[in-house]
Amino acid sequence: MAEPENQDSDQEDQDLPMEIENGHISDNSSDYTSTSDRNSPDEDLELINSITGEYDRDIPTTHGYLGKLNPLRGYTIFEDGDVLKVFAIYTNTLVFPGFTLPLVMTNNYENGIMQNFIDKNNRVFVLLCANSGYSGLYEYGITMEIFEISHHYRMLHIKARGRQRCERVPGSKIENASARIKLVTVRIIAEPPIVSPLQDSQLLALKLKRKWKIRNIGELKQCKRYRRYHAAQYVFPSWVYDMNEVSYYIDILLDALSSYGKEYIPKDPEKLSYWFVQNYQLSHNERLKILGLKSTLERLKLECMYLKLGRTMCCDNCNALITDPSKVFVMSKDGTQSNYVNPGGHVYETVTVLSAINFQLVGDPSRQFSWFPGYAWTIIQCIYCNKHLGWKFTSNNLSPKEFFGLAKSGFKVMSQDPPDDLSILK
Ligand SMILES: [Zn+2]
Repeated sequence: MAEPENQDSDQEDQDLPMEIENGHISDNSSDYTSTSDRNSPDEDLELINSITGEYDRDIPTTHGYLGKLNPLRGYTIFEDGDVLKVFAIYTNTLVFPGFTLPLVMTNNYENGIMQNFIDKNNRVFVLLCANSGYSGLYEYGITMEIFEISHHYRMLHIKARGRQRCERVPGSKIENASARIKLVTVRIIAEPPIVSPLQDSQLLALKLKRKWKIRNIGELKQCKRYRRYHAAQYVFPSWVYDMNEVSYYIDILLDALSSYGKEYIPKDPEKLSYWFVQNYQLSHNERLKILGLKSTLERLKLECMYLKLGRTMCCDNCNALITDPSKVFVMSKDGTQSNYVNPGGHVYETVTVLSAINFQLVGDPSRQFSWFPGYAWTIIQCIYCNKHLGWKFTSNNLSPKEFFGLAKSGFKVMSQDPPDDLSILK
């Protein structure tokens, strides 16, 4: 995979957050160009020839580009309110609980810090992202647990998984271990239990008739009669209470996301709230707002509101319309956007869409090192300003026959301003 040579967007400024591209920490001092982990062209051709028909969405999830990594054991969950002094990696992006971040670190000094950290049996660091103005650290972050690690040449490969939300302790000192690795003090924010809005005032006579853990909209409908009896003692109609049940919002989200492939979307309220923010096309500010919310219900409510706002995906440089979220689809079991690396070691967070406009093809299709084995790729760039947008993937014998992988660095999500309240839901 490649990008146009004139499209190197790596940052020189050491005060800026680490360039991860949702996966890759770049460093301009690195001259790493090895590609020995990749398949040979013959191996690629053999694989390509063996694939026909509907695409196997398991294939892109293997992330074989990181080579063989050594597994680390552990699953660390902290108590609500625990205060930790830990390393934080400062990034431009976000990863939510349950999702994986593959890191490719190329700076020798920072590699030394992380290796020393891991050698002392530490597994958990914090991912802190840039605030809405990209001028500093956002107050909320995610604890990340390292579960695989390996060295490749002078690079450190790490896979870490998001565990819990946390917030920086107000007034606590931020120490710079390196330009982009900080030592910070954070407080763990545990997920509050999901409860029904009528639970605390339950009438004893109805207690056996009414489920409080409503797991899906079907259960909510089943107990509607008892809810009506119960809610009759209040001035508000029962639908007001229904709208504070997580199942109400799960139903809206699952319905709206059905084109993504229901088999890939979790139905658990908490997991769904994170899946949405990780996969739906939201602006950086919208993602920050969701990260700052306290409960699953609040996240689901805000996400349903974001669903209703018109939004487009535009060239990051000149704002030309490229596509819109209705064209996004799942091409990997990991979801609609995943991290992939090119032979030069640069990892892109890539969103798969079925169609795009205002682009031009650059060069000829190539089948070498394709992130989607079986497909040939061609670079695409903005027809107006030549900004690198991503790649077009084509195949004669696979379904779909063509699609686009848009690099997150090439486009931005533009949305309407939200209303002041949530009345849009009514
Ligand atoms: Zn453009």
